[in-house]
Amino acid sequence: MSSGTSASPPGGRSGGVGLPAGLPDDVGAAIIQHTRYCAPDEACGLLGVDGDGSVVIAYCLPNVHSQRRRRFTVDPAGHYRAMRHAEAHGWSIGGSFHSHPGGPAIPSPTDIAGAFDPTWWYVIAGPLPRPEVRVYRIVAGVVTEVPTGVIAAARRPGAVMAGSTP
Ligand SMILES: [Zn+2]
Repeated sequence: MSSGTSASPPGGRSGGVGLPAGLPDDVGAAIIQHTRYCAPDEACGLLGVDGDGSVVIAYCLPNVHSQRRRRFTVDPAGHYRAMRHAEAHGWSIGGSFHSHPGGPAIPSPTDIAGAFDPTWWYVIAGPLPRPEVRVYRIVAGVVTEVPTGVIAAARRPGAVMAGSTP
């Protein structure tokens, strides 16, 4: 819940470029699980953000691309449902995620070329069996990793990630 005028993100990071508080553990876990479920195809989905631009939910959606092993397209009907869900909660769609089941969690040239929104978080998970989840901004073809977003997949869902905050 946000109240008043305080907009300080939890954790107190101050990158000066409006960084989110980091990817919540449950969002990262959901992305990893969706990556496992969809493998060997690429998994994909959208990210809901709150009024501060912080990621609050991962919408795990079908990949409808005809070459799902190497590319992804978020299911349009799922995209619409995610938008409606986000709006109903006072959020908006502020990013997307997809997986690289067999490769590192870094944007490919195709990913960079397809990153059309400079305000979105672009999240990539990979490779299996122990994917990392990394968060990027991609603005006019320039990729910047958001250093708060790395989550080790070895952590079990439900486990408390104590001590991970500097
Ligand atoms: Zn990719």
